[in-house]
Amino acid sequence: MYDPISPNVNFVEQEKKIEEFWREHKIFEKSIEDRKDGTPYVFYDGPPTANGKPHIGHVLTRVIKDMIPRYRTMKGCMVPRKAGWDTHGLPVELEVEKMLGLDGKEQIEEYGLEPFIGHCKESVWKYKGMWEDFSRTVGFWADMDDPYVTYHNEFIESEWWALKQIYEKNLLYKGFKIVPYCPRCGTPLSSHEVAQGYKTVKERSAVVRFKVVGEDAYFLAWTTTPWTLPSNVALCVNPVDVYVKVKAADGFTYYMAEALLDKVLGKLATEDAPAYEILESYKGIDLEGKEYEPLFSYVKPICDKQNKKGFFITADNYVTMTDGTGIVHIAPAFGEDDAKVGRKYDLPFVQLVDGKGEMAEPTPYAGTFVKDADKLVLIDLEKAGLLFDAPKFEHEYPHCWRCNTPLIYYARESWFIKMTEVKDDLIRNNNTINWIPESIGKGRFGDWLQNVQD
Ligand SMILES: [Zn+2]
Repeated sequence: MYDPISPNVNFVEQEKKIEEFWREHKIFEKSIEDRKDGTPYVFYDGPPTANGKPHIGHVLTRVIKDMIPRYRTMKGCMVPRKAGWDTHGLPVELEVEKMLGLDGKEQIEEYGLEPFIGHCKESVWKYKGMWEDFSRTVGFWADMDDPYVTYHNEFIESEWWALKQIYEKNLLYKGFKIVPYCPRCGTPLSSHEVAQGYKTVKERSAVVRFKVVGEDAYFLAWTTTPWTLPSNVALCVNPVDVYVKVKAADGFTYYMAEALLDKVLGKLATEDAPAYEILESYKGIDLEGKEYEPLFSYVKPICDKQNKKGFFITADNYVTMTDGTGIVHIAPAFGEDDAKVGRKYDLPFVQLVDGKGEMAEPTPYAGTFVKDADKLVLIDLEKAGLLFDAPKFEHEYPHCWRCNTPLIYYARESWFIKMTEVKDDLIRNNNTINWIPESIGKGRFGDWLQNVQD
């Protein structure tokens, strides 16, 4: 026996009726109760954030997350389904920051951490009712009356418990790493976050003269971030490429890569004279160890205090012949490649920028935001006769996806989990998972595991 369906069916009404029937007769609760001797198949909802409204994308994920437990239920399993709420994270804090008219970490601390956290805890429930309605409407079954909440102490304690296990396995370490860092938010960003904020910017780069010790000659090096020059401690060449010493038409003698001569010096040519005359030629590695004078007098004392030697030529394969002069300036505090060269040659560590992204003492630009310090550095180099050129350079530069501030690459002390040490286990376990579609597990996720980072 069945009820005939009207040709003018009102689907919304029909859905509401079914939803009402389920609720009234506690069908979800019965689906568990009736199978309490069945094999457990436990579902924990990957928790949504209730301070944002549900949108059409959530319909798809809720439907998929309902389909599989429902299928297992129909196969006779006992399927408890625990709802959850994600109440942590910067999106919540940013919203409260906006509401209170605060700007940045310092103002939050002034306002008071406890009251600020209180507001965050309220704010996370803003759309809870809407989420519950929405979940019922799409037929998503979960225990909404007893959810897990990420700000509850029991949940936080379980996180600490997990971290302790990691620590006891010797997989937790305090390191020093170059991270993309937002000076306004005062926090490092994940590579996923960095990828969201690239913008094309046109900035002044610098081609700088580094005076060779004991010779009337200069190394010509190029950088796109002049603000890192006060923290320079070395220069780097490619070990196998060809470098030359030339007499240039501007009267100076330079060392640089042969492949880039015309690109850099070409404009010095006149009707009467060529741009340069080659005096000698070398392999990059032949220049290794050659010393130069620091650009700024205040840097050497910092290096001496660390008992480390700087201001000489290093060699590494990462230097390419695509841009610049073939000689790269090295500031180990501000770039992953630089840090690597710094470790290899045991270079001094000079970080003349503070956590707010401002230039630090003893530079004369203390308190100036790094990007604004670019031109001040260029002016000082120009005055000292050390600036060969400051060409405009267009490139993709990462900005904070939250607040639009240009990111800086910055050495920070941070805690890391040694994922690289468990890489083989991760890959082996991933291969046992029945991924649908298969391409996700083998491709996107598999590739990510192959290149897993601490
Ligand atoms: Zn930011």
